[in-house]
Amino acid sequence: MTEKTLAIIKPDAVRKKFSGAILARYEKEGFRIRAIKMRALSKAEAEGFYAVHRERPFFSSLVSFMVSGPVILVVLEKDNAILDHRTLMGATDPAKAEKETLRALYGESIEYNAVHGSDSGETAAFEIPYFFSTVELIG
Ligand code: GDP
Repeated sequence: MTEKTLAIIKPDAVRKKFSGAILARYEKEGFRIRAIKMRALSKAEAEGFYAVHRERPFFSSLVSFMVSGPVILVVLEKDNAILDHRTLMGATDPAKAEKETLRALYGESIEYNAVHGSDSGETAAFEIPYFFSTVELIG
């Protein structure tokens, strides 16, 4: 089934100029880039996006990281996009991520792990409209 998922190239990867390589990899792996924009997130936007993690000990550190520089927000589409993108990303901790995954290649720590991806249909249904309006997704 064709699905959409939200990907974010996080501030660490943008800073290190990995954006182009990551976008090229999405296309190489069969994802269609349906919508894309670069944004500097506000603290409130980052807190709202990660609201499910509010009680976690790393929440404030995660929010500071996510506002530390611009991010690239991407809506990807393909069959089975959500799970296939999670596989392409690799484990949260780059040290534990499978070889050749985005986090193994471009992440440096469990927090500075280069990319985000929706982890379920329910999450994608929250995350995509959080950043993209209906008109931005036409086509
Ligand atoms: P994901 O779905 O693989 O991104 O992982 P989670 O939803 O569990 O965590 C969200 C983000 O919080 C991760 O991508 C990391 O940037 C960060 N994070 C997760 N676990 C930790 C942790 O134990 N310590 C720190 N400092 N950051 C973490």
